[in-house]
Amino acid sequence: MSIENVAIIGLGLLGGSIGLAVKEHAPQIATRGYDANPDVRRIAGERALVGTVCNSASEAVQDADLVILCVPVGAMKAAASDFADSLPDHAIISDVGSSKQSVCEDLAEALPNATIIPAHPVAGTEQSGPEAGFATLFANRWCILTPPAGADEAAVEALADFWRKLGSRIEIMDAEHHDLVLAVTSHIPHLIAYTIVGTASDLEDVTRSEVIKYSAGGFRDFTRIAASDPTMWRDVFLHNKSAVLEMLGRFTEDLTALQRAIRSGDGETLHELFSRTRAIRRGIIEEGQDDERPDFGREH
Ligand code: NAP
Repeated sequence: MSIENVAIIGLGLLGGSIGLAVKEHAPQIATRGYDANPDVRRIAGERALVGTVCNSASEAVQDADLVILCVPVGAMKAAASDFADSLPDHAIISDVGSSKQSVCEDLAEALPNATIIPAHPVAGTEQSGPEAGFATLFANRWCILTPPAGADEAAVEALADFWRKLGSRIEIMDAEHHDLVLAVTSHIPHLIAYTIVGTASDLEDVTRSEVIKYSAGGFRDFTRIAASDPTMWRDVFLHNKSAVLEMLGRFTEDLTALQRAIRSGDGETLHELFSRTRAIRRGIIEEGQDDERPDFGREH
C-alpha cells in the first residue's frame, strides 16, 4: 500500500507541521489541505503549508490515499462528516488527536465503512494556528498508533512508514492504554500548570507584577504550558474524562501525603521523593526527549 497523496484537514500547528515536514522529508508525496477558517486557509497558502489549499474538505480528500484530521478532538466527528461522501474507498483515515478512545468512536460513527487508524504524534508546543507549524516538529518524537482490533495490517504499516519519513519513532498500543498514559504524562501536567498559574493570578496579597517579576524561580516554566490553546485543552479534558479523573485521584492522594510530610516536618519523605524525581529527568534527557542545557536550552 503506497501513500502518494495526503489530505490534511485542519491547518494549524499540527496540520501545518505535517505539510511542511512532508515537503522537506518526502517531497514525492503530494499534499492538499483544508481548514474551516478562511483566514487560516489564506495564511496556509502564503506559507505554502501544503501543495494545494482547497476550499472544501471534499475537494481536499479527492484522490487521497491518507486523510489526517488535525482539528481539536471535539471537532473530529463534524470534520470527518464533512467529507464522508467524497472519500475514496481505499483511503486510510487517521488523526493527530491528543486523546484516542473518543476519537476512535467518533470517526467510526462518521465514516462507518472506512479504514480508520487513529494516531497521536507526541510532539507539540504551546503555540497554535497556521503560523506556528515547522518541519522538524516530529523529529525523534514518538508517534503512537492506536489501530482498532482487527485493523488492516498493511494500512497500519503504511501509516507507520509515513510517520517514520517525517522523523517519528513508532509505538503501537490500544486506545484505552494510550489515554491512561497520556493522562499522566501530558493531561495532568497541563491541568496542574493551568491551576498554579490561575491560583497565582487570583492572589490578593501577592501582586501580579511580583508574580511576573520573580517568575524565574519556577513559575515561568508552568506558564509556558499554561499558555497552550484553550480550545484544544478544553476538548482534551472533556474527551479523556475517565482517565484524567483516575490519575487526578492518584495525584491528589500523593499531594495530600506531601502536605502531611511538610506539616509534620518529615524531611526524609520529602528528600526521598525529590531524589527519585531527579532520576526521571535524567532518563528523559538520555532518551533525547529534552535538552540538558540550563533553561531547557533556551537562547537568551
Ligand atoms: P490548532 O493550531 O488550533 O489547529 C486546528 C485547526 O483546525 C484550526 O485552524 C481550526 O480552525 C481548524 N478546525 C476546527 N474545526 C474544523 C473543522 N470542522 N474542519 C476543518 N478545520 C477545523 O490546533 P493544533 O495544536 O494543531 O491541534 C490539532 C490537534 O492536534 C488536536 O486534536 C490536538 O489535540 C492535537 N495535538 C496537539 C498538540 C499540540 O501541542 N498543540 C500535540 C499533539 C497533538 P479555528 O481555529 O478557526 O477553529
